[in-house]
Amino acid sequence: MLHPRPHEHLEREPLLQLRGVSCGYGGRAALRDVDLQIMRGDWVGLLGPSGSGKSTLLRCILGAVDVYRGDVLFQGRPIAAARPRIGYVPQLETIDWQFPVTVEQVVMMGRTAEARWLPWFSGADRKLAHGLMDRLGILRLARRHIRELSGGEQQRAFLARALVSGPKLLLLDEPTAGLDITTRDEILHLLDELNHQDVTILMTTHEINAVAAHLPWVVCVNGRVLAEGTPSQVFTPEILKLVYGGDIPVTTYQGMTLVAEQPHHFGRNGADV
Ligand code: ADP
Repeated sequence: MLHPRPHEHLEREPLLQLRGVSCGYGGRAALRDVDLQIMRGDWVGLLGPSGSGKSTLLRCILGAVDVYRGDVLFQGRPIAAARPRIGYVPQLETIDWQFPVTVEQVVMMGRTAEARWLPWFSGADRKLAHGLMDRLGILRLARRHIRELSGGEQQRAFLARALVSGPKLLLLDEPTAGLDITTRDEILHLLDELNHQDVTILMTTHEINAVAAHLPWVVCVNGRVLAEGTPSQVFTPEILKLVYGGDIPVTTYQGMTLVAEQPHHFGRNGADV
């Protein structure tokens, strides 16, 4: 199990602030009135059902959706003006796997965000990328096509791409989706390590017990921010009903909060199977 990181040794300052933000697509708000503060050194999980606006919130920070109201600030300045280095790891399922690209090329793409005069990469760029790939255990896969990798290896390649520009903030969209238990825990431990090295992390997840329960701080969303706190603070039947719209029993086992995640109903016309 991962432990909440001790923040005491860090100077705590808001890295990211969303103030009264409503944002969405084509004039329709997917998220309304979002007030959120991410402190330097935080590791925050965005939890909510499918379609609740988790990815939209990440895209809002990246400037990739329309903001209808409110402000997004980075270290106190409008984020568009601050232009911070943000590492982004998209959901694996949104990636075009037909694109012919090797692991090394994927990672090097993270350097193209840098302002540069020369259209090629320097030896220093490559060294940096290789160092990161080595650390993430994928250097031996450098020349392999990204499509040939396992889910965990692909996740590491995109993580390396996000980290290669030395971001202050790392945004990850469902980094553990589709991974087996061991690989999922490896990715979570990797993120824990990065977080201890002063990388602030905001990630989406829809996995309550397997992922969100192990994070230091959880923000529950469904069209708006409905609650935030430590997992034991937010995993109450009342809050989960607000977020998921149904009764979800919660129990504790050996000091751990366990949420009884209901199976989906696949029956026709709403009938249980
Ligand atoms: P989540 O990540 O929690 O599954 P999303 O942020 O993807 O949810 O979606 C939130 C809402 O925004 C949903 O109603 C979804 O249909 C809508 N939405 C997401 N992407 C788009 C898009 N590109 N264009 C229009 N609507 C979108």
